[in-house]
Amino acid sequence: MLRLSLAAWLLFSLAWRTTPTACRQIRPPQSIQQMLATQLQSYMDTRARPCENFYQYACGNWQIQQEEQNFPRERERDRDRERERYQEQLLPTDILEGIDSSLNRRLELLLRRSNGSSIEGDSMVLELMRLYYRSCKRLKPYNLKKYLVLLQPSNLTHWPSVGRGWRPENFDWITTMGRLRLHGLNGALLRMDVLPRWDDSRSYSLYVNKPSRQETLPMGEGAIIELLLDIGQTKRAANALARLVDDFEHKLHRLQDLDDDEGPREMQLGYLATYLPQLRWLSFMRQVRDDAELDLRSTLIIENIPYLRALSELVEAQTPDTVCSYIMLKWLAFLKTQGPAEISRRECVSSLRRAMPLASSWLISQRFFDPDSEPEIRALFRRLKRRFGQTLAENRLRLSPPLVHILQQKIRAMRLQLGFVQLDEQENVEQYYAHLELSDHNFYGNQLELLRQRVVANYDLLSMNSTNLTNSTRGSVSYLAESWDASNSSPLYVRPRNLVLVPHGLLQLPVWHRNISSLQQHAVLGFALAHEMAHGFDMSGIDYDDLGNIMGPVEEIGASKQFRQGLNCMQQQMATGSKWLDEKLADFAALRLAYETFFGVRADQREPRDPLVPQFSQRQLFFISFAQFFCGRTPVSSLRSQSQAHLEHAADELRVMQTLANFEEFSREFGCEKKAKMQASHRCRLW
Ligand SMILES: [Zn+2]
Repeated sequence: MLRLSLAAWLLFSLAWRTTPTACRQIRPPQSIQQMLATQLQSYMDTRARPCENFYQYACGNWQIQQEEQNFPRERERDRDRERERYQEQLLPTDILEGIDSSLNRRLELLLRRSNGSSIEGDSMVLELMRLYYRSCKRLKPYNLKKYLVLLQPSNLTHWPSVGRGWRPENFDWITTMGRLRLHGLNGALLRMDVLPRWDDSRSYSLYVNKPSRQETLPMGEGAIIELLLDIGQTKRAANALARLVDDFEHKLHRLQDLDDDEGPREMQLGYLATYLPQLRWLSFMRQVRDDAELDLRSTLIIENIPYLRALSELVEAQTPDTVCSYIMLKWLAFLKTQGPAEISRRECVSSLRRAMPLASSWLISQRFFDPDSEPEIRALFRRLKRRFGQTLAENRLRLSPPLVHILQQKIRAMRLQLGFVQLDEQENVEQYYAHLELSDHNFYGNQLELLRQRVVANYDLLSMNSTNLTNSTRGSVSYLAESWDASNSSPLYVRPRNLVLVPHGLLQLPVWHRNISSLQQHAVLGFALAHEMAHGFDMSGIDYDDLGNIMGPVEEIGASKQFRQGLNCMQQQMATGSKWLDEKLADFAALRLAYETFFGVRADQREPRDPLVPQFSQRQLFFISFAQFFCGRTPVSSLRSQSQAHLEHAADELRVMQTLANFEEFSREFGCEKKAKMQASHRCRLW
């Protein structure tokens, strides 16, 4: 995923995004470009030296501009710390956040329209969204304990920390896990997902696995105590319980070290019940599929069997209090991320977008997306694909001709999908929510109902036949609906579909407008598309073939000496740990791809300068636009922990600097000397 942390454009969001389409058409295209040119220059700190710190050069005045645009008079006065902190929270940290908060403001206007004034076209889906939104606004405050009252661990016992109904002798961890899985919890103790089959991605399979390493990472006593205090435990009880759970968490995390010496296996449900009886899988499934008859002959793919065996031993050795509390805490932590972070209008819209991703993306596409943009965006995607195909044909890695052919087939087959939901899919969306009952007085009930709905819809995919699925566009990505977060407009590459998915929400200024210059299109959206495209060819992407089956030529490519050298080179430059290797690879490839698609590969050709910014060459402008995509503020205080926010900001800065330092055209264009900071001593290139 791009997770672009980009410069925010709050001014534009107010000036342009609220303007109806008709008005936009009357304005001459020049005015958008004029505005962007002024903006571009105002963000720059031209006292900084581009060859020493290009991020400072391109983004150095960004933060000051943001403050001046949002709080013009405040700057004159002496500001106290308190007010400064408050204002900081109102400013977006980066471009994506800016885009999403502007979308939220516009969604909010739609949602606040009262029942009586429903305009024509307001569908039942929009009415459901209004019910959710109203129920959220009525909250004061967000109280996690209410969920525990609404949903018990089973019909035979209550939660240990809530009321007096705790019956440890009746607690069964498998039943509780199944029940919570049905309401969205996944990755606590184990994972269960409905995913495209590895060998035939047009159909789905049930995958059972251990949680990821990240998911079993201990929460720590502090976080546990905080959650327990949230649900009304005394400090003393919270401290005592936190120690027990913390100990269990560490033991659980150590199970990650077990090797999967049995490998993944596909087996029938009925057979699994005798093969791994301690897992009591049928009890689990009866909770998840509470309304359907279990077919014992249906199959699932199970991985990490040694972990699952050890898990049931570990759990049986603990007291029911500890295990049940652990599950409860994971459940609460999950619910906390789903609901509003605080009770404010803006947060209720974010929460709505998480709770009803399908409805939200449908509404965004209906109301805020300009369909006339689509052909141009598709043409841009095609040009990038063509250039990538040429790069593959140049064969820097000296792969065998059949292998090059396989890779070219993959790039040719790669598709672009705009929007999670298509413009003509209103009927499907209505069907999806048809049986839902929401109330404007029951936020917690609504939330549970919606979580459950997503899981049920995902399991229904197992019984759908593959022609139905591939015929509808949404069908092909519908399995993402459970985990997909519509509150974020970041694009993504869907490996089993060989598909680049761009949410409609992203396609607004400063990322996209029909009237922005072609250079700007390539440097911003072009880079974003190329980045996702490159994920099809990164370390995880090459596992997948053109159809999205895990049958990609990964071993053959890995055998190439040039490929290994390229990877080693990037690893040497890793500052943030090897888990980011795929991102670095995608950034490096994407900048080159977007640049060469726009300028061609001839370096000696000079383009006429843009009269709006004559002090820069076209190629310099390209690099400045690219870098400004990542402008953000250095956080002083934030809802997230300070160090985390600082880390993310530093990562964006580093991202821009490293990507440019590895591209020879950049240093040529700015005339950087050999020893300059913005020149990597060894330039890395893979594809
Ligand atoms: Zn990415």
